[in-house]
Amino acid sequence: MFVEVHVGDVVRLRKPHPCGSYEWEVVRIGADIGLVCQQCGRRVLLPRGDFNKRLKTFIKRVAENETE
Ligand SMILES: [Zn+2]
Repeated sequence: MFVEVHVGDVVRLRKPHPCGSYEWEVVRIGADIGLVCQQCGRRVLLPRGDFNKRLKTFIKRVAENETE
């Protein structure tokens, strides 16, 4: 399973950050996905597989016409 994701997208995850926020902005794409918590600003790296599992929905999507 492959979720298409772009830098600048804002996503909602299934589990909240310890600060209570479910919303994250995507800041880095690679083997790991870099995310910044929208509430406390903490940056984390999630392996892509974990990201796919935890992703609930997209809150904001940037251009979807790019190819990988
Ligand atoms: Zn947070």
